[in-house]
Amino acid sequence: MTEIEAPRGVTFLKDALAERLGRPAATRAVKGSSSEWYIFDPCFAVIQRGIGSSNRGYRSGILVSHSEIFFSNVHSPTPAKLLKTNLKQRPESLINAAEGCRHLRNYHYLHYSSRKASSKSGTKKYIDTLRVIESRNWKIFKEELEANLGGIAYDLFPELPNSGKGIGETCRGTYFSLLLADYKHIELSKSDETAAQLAAEVIDAAWYLFSCLYPWESPKKRDASLRRAMLSKPGLLNCEYSKIVGAPISNCDNSAIEAAHIIPYARGGSDRSWNGIWLCTKHHRITEGKLLGGRDRSNLSELRVRFLNHQIIDEK
Ligand SMILES: [Zn+2]
Repeated sequence: MTEIEAPRGVTFLKDALAERLGRPAATRAVKGSSSEWYIFDPCFAVIQRGIGSSNRGYRSGILVSHSEIFFSNVHSPTPAKLLKTNLKQRPESLINAAEGCRHLRNYHYLHYSSRKASSKSGTKKYIDTLRVIESRNWKIFKEELEANLGGIAYDLFPELPNSGKGIGETCRGTYFSLLLADYKHIELSKSDETAAQLAAEVIDAAWYLFSCLYPWESPKKRDASLRRAMLSKPGLLNCEYSKIVGAPISNCDNSAIEAAHIIPYARGGSDRSWNGIWLCTKHHRITEGKLLGGRDRSNLSELRVRFLNHQIIDEK
């Protein structure tokens, strides 16, 4: 059996993913097609795939399909479960992925499958739905995505009733595809430097979403250990939102005060008290993943934190 050689752009994407992973990445042509490729982490794929399913059946990760690059999961039950669980905790990873490489496409597109249970006439029935959010206009797309954000993970890939027919049924309905970029930018770029740079931009944008394919530690647990670390040092237990440089003006809503990570744990932030900030629930949500900085390690009352305005950074 001869392996088909991966096209130039796919190889650049693979190298960019390997760089983020810190170990080799792999590519795989979709069966019966030479213009569809998955780019994935071979180490984790062994676990994700599950016992008994073949390497060929594995379909999750970065997908180059004809002229477009997606983050995709199709019919792979383990990644589907992880994606659902992790998106519930961090739904903004979807927006981050879409936003981070929006300059590399002129169309914005997400499709995912869900199933709605209806219990008319006493017996439970399921209706398959394929939901699509799409627009040529980024603002409209983002607004619609934000409006649906809370619900997407909950509607995604519901547990299907066992039909007793074996594998088919439980694997159905697990489609998820977010358009990341036009592939031609990478495949057709004149210099290798540009191709590598653009591939890295796509992988970086999708990295947070890609990491949703892995088992995470619950952020709740992380916040609890951060809280313990912060309480071990003397300090006030008030919302520190107003001390954040560049944060939009917003009043506290007197909700509970929480220990929040300045740099999120999922992006390498520590659970030590110098990476912690006290925030009310409302301001915890507003600032999630948008802060930069930390406390002075020798003087923890010294807080040097900036609010990142993604919009302004992108427009530069
Ligand atoms: Zn507050």
